Amino acid sequence: VFATNNKHKLSEIKDILGNDFDIVSLKDIGCDVDIPETADTLEGNASIKSHYIYDNYRLNCFADDTGLEVDALGGEPGVRSARYDEHTDHDSEANMRKLLSKMSNVKDRTARFRTVISLIINGVEHQFEGRVEGRIATEKHGTEGFGYDPIFIPDGYDKSFAELGEEVKNQISHRARAVKKLAEYLSSSC
Ligand code: IMP
Repeated sequence: VFATNNKHKLSEIKDILGNDFDIVSLKDIGCDVDIPETADTLEGNASIKSHYIYDNYRLNCFADDTGLEVDALGGEPGVRSARYDEHTDHDSEANMRKLLSKMSNVKDRTARFRTVISLIINGVEHQFEGRVEGRIATEKHGTEGFGYDPIFIPDGYDKSFAELGEEVKNQISHRARAVKKLAEYLSSSC
C-alpha cells in the first residue's frame, strides 16, 4: 500500500516500479482518514503515516513526506512546506509569495528538495531519502509542475523546475531519487 490518495504520485511510483509490484492506494484499501502529520521532521511524518497503515491494516506499506529546505532560513519551510503561509491551506501561490518576500534581501539562495520514504515490510521499517540541490529564484518562472516548482532552480540548470517540465524533473527530482532507492531495495530483497 502506498499511503497516498494523490493520483499523480501513485502513477509516478507505478511507472518506476514497473509490473513486478502491485501498488494500491489508501482508497483501494478503504482508508479515507487524513493521517495527521504531527512530527517536526520529514522522517517522523513519513514514519507516522506508514505505521498508521501497518498498525491498522497489517499490510506492507510505504509513505512519503517532502519539504523544501532553504539554508538562509534555517531549513524553512521544511516540514511546513504545504502550509508555509499560515493564512491559507495548501496554497502554492501564497507559499511562494511568503518565501520570496522573506528572501527579498537574501544573497545565499541555496536550497534543496528532500523526500523521505518510510517502508514497512513485515513490521520492520526502512527509510530512503532523495534530494535535489539547487537555489531559489528571485521571481517565478514557468508554468509546469506544482508547489514551489516555479521558484526552484536545480543545480546544473538555469531554468526552474516549472520551465524544465516533467520529463527532466522526473529524471533528477528528490521524489524520483527516493523512489529509485525504494525500487532497488524492493527488487533486491522482496
Ligand atoms: P508532500 O509531502 O509530497 O505532500 O509535499 C509537501 C509540500 O512540498 C507540497 O505541498 C509542495 O508545496 C511541496 N512539494 C513537494 N514536492 C514538490 C515538488 O516536486 N515541486 C514543488 N513543490 C513540491
